[in-house]
Amino acid sequence: MTAFLPNQDPNPARRNKALNKSRKSYSFNYNYVSPLAIVDRVPIQDEFSYGWILKVAERVANSLANKAEITEDAAHRDLHLSRHRHLSSLMEMGRICMNDLKAVVTDAIRFESRVASEEERPQSLEDYADIFHTFGLPPIAGNYETDSHFAWSRIAGPNPVVLENVRQIDDRFPVTDAEFQIACPHDSLERALDEGRVFIADYQLLENAELGDYPHGSKYCYAPLALFVIDEKTSQLLPVAIQCDQTPGSDNPIFTPDDGWNWLIAKTIVEVADGNMHEAFTHLGRTHFFMEPFVVTTFRQLAQKHPLAILLTPHFQGTLAINEAAWKHLIANKGAVDKLFGCSITSARGVAVKAVQSANIVDLELPKTFTSRGVDFSSTLKTYPYRDDALLYWGAIESWVRSYLQIYYTSEAEILGDVELQNWSRELSAQDGGRLNGIPHGGKISTLDELTGIVTLIIYTCSVQHAAVNFPQYDLMSYTPNIPLAAYTPAPTSKRQATEADYLNMLPPMDMAELQMELGYLLGTTHYTQLGQYERHHFRDHRVSQHLAEFQHAVSAIGGKIHNRNETRLESYETLAPSGIPQSINI
Ligand code: MN
Repeated sequence: MTAFLPNQDPNPARRNKALNKSRKSYSFNYNYVSPLAIVDRVPIQDEFSYGWILKVAERVANSLANKAEITEDAAHRDLHLSRHRHLSSLMEMGRICMNDLKAVVTDAIRFESRVASEEERPQSLEDYADIFHTFGLPPIAGNYETDSHFAWSRIAGPNPVVLENVRQIDDRFPVTDAEFQIACPHDSLERALDEGRVFIADYQLLENAELGDYPHGSKYCYAPLALFVIDEKTSQLLPVAIQCDQTPGSDNPIFTPDDGWNWLIAKTIVEVADGNMHEAFTHLGRTHFFMEPFVVTTFRQLAQKHPLAILLTPHFQGTLAINEAAWKHLIANKGAVDKLFGCSITSARGVAVKAVQSANIVDLELPKTFTSRGVDFSSTLKTYPYRDDALLYWGAIESWVRSYLQIYYTSEAEILGDVELQNWSRELSAQDGGRLNGIPHGGKISTLDELTGIVTLIIYTCSVQHAAVNFPQYDLMSYTPNIPLAAYTPAPTSKRQATEADYLNMLPPMDMAELQMELGYLLGTTHYTQLGQYERHHFRDHRVSQHLAEFQHAVSAIGGKIHNRNETRLESYETLAPSGIPQSINI
């Protein structure tokens, strides 16, 4: 387990500097409520938020109006009324300021970055760490290049949905027993396959992606294959072999852990592919754009007070706006993705489209996704932090959804007879509607199980799944060498010895590392709202309270369980702690 929380800097000098700064803004004063310890001055970040001030201001305005009405004395009544007018005009100005603020923020998330006129190559790896100033360098910078972290990324990284169990060696990836034994000298490939201990990460999805370019040439992204094994003695997942592209051949050698710099280069090629697949397929496609039709259809087909609308709308907050920013700016031609990715923007958009079109609602029920890849609890993969934590939430969300829906639907007839609900489910899959695949019976939901399944998937995807793939953008992806979004030299075509210079040359230039850091910081640290924390009185139906309390209790119990698990994990997996899971996709 790592010693530092995600936001902390592993460098002690920098950490102390940051702490000293923080101590300066929080000093004690013992005279205010003598002799109690009270903060001397409330720092700016602890002042009332805009949302809070507006909310209280509305109450103050109402209260002044009320006072004016009940005051019999004319002079006092005029005083209350003039205060009320003044407050109303200030609130109006506040709204105007908020609009200006919104414009600035919207502009910032275009990520219009600096593009250097001459290519700025890093002089050393240090250069990538040195660009982190006001926000801390993610601890991953300290151990990103180890084999154990490389394996850990498959089960606790930003894209933990690729690893599959294999029972035989694939023709595309002819790893020999001798190559296998380089990582595991006392094991055999055949035995490991028989015992179900062999896993593959296959990036075939990117096989036909076209390469992106930048002002000084081509960028590179491959469709690699990586083989892993569960070590017999330690039960840990270990990388065994990597082939940088899909077709085996003398110009596409298999690299093993004894290949020196070429091994790190091959691992980096896997991370480039993982990063491209992560952003386009797993993050943008399978969370942001996958949820968009549910949001729109819910607002189009369900009345505001329909129980399903009441349940879902908190999980849709901010999604349409962030998705608009994503398609207008992030995946636009010459946008941030175009600049950063190894594959071209057309290919990246194509992968995101494919992610939504290939999403089948029934197959995406979380437990099934692990079974279909051979990595469920019955597999030899006993430690899989993403699976282990996410399934706890899946279970809690499913119980919450079922108990909530049971209040309103007690028979199939009630489900079939709910016109709004039936219009909703029909429109989700309709060609002139949401165009989603796998809605039961072509859009005719008839049982509580079917409805529970689909609503669980929606709430889970908007909250837990999005958090699992969104927030590692800072912890794991903002430090470029860990997951560069493009390679800048081609993959090695022979086992010729590589050097540190070869490795550095493949990493992104500094202007792109800055952009990757900014994007990762902004998108990967903005946590707004928290799973299960609905606004007070959101559910007006008193029959909901008990079920909601149970759900909130379940979420907090999951938090305790995850905390305990992190005490013994190889690296800490904080991504799915409850405090890090917003209710909706809003960043
Ligand atoms: Mn996101």
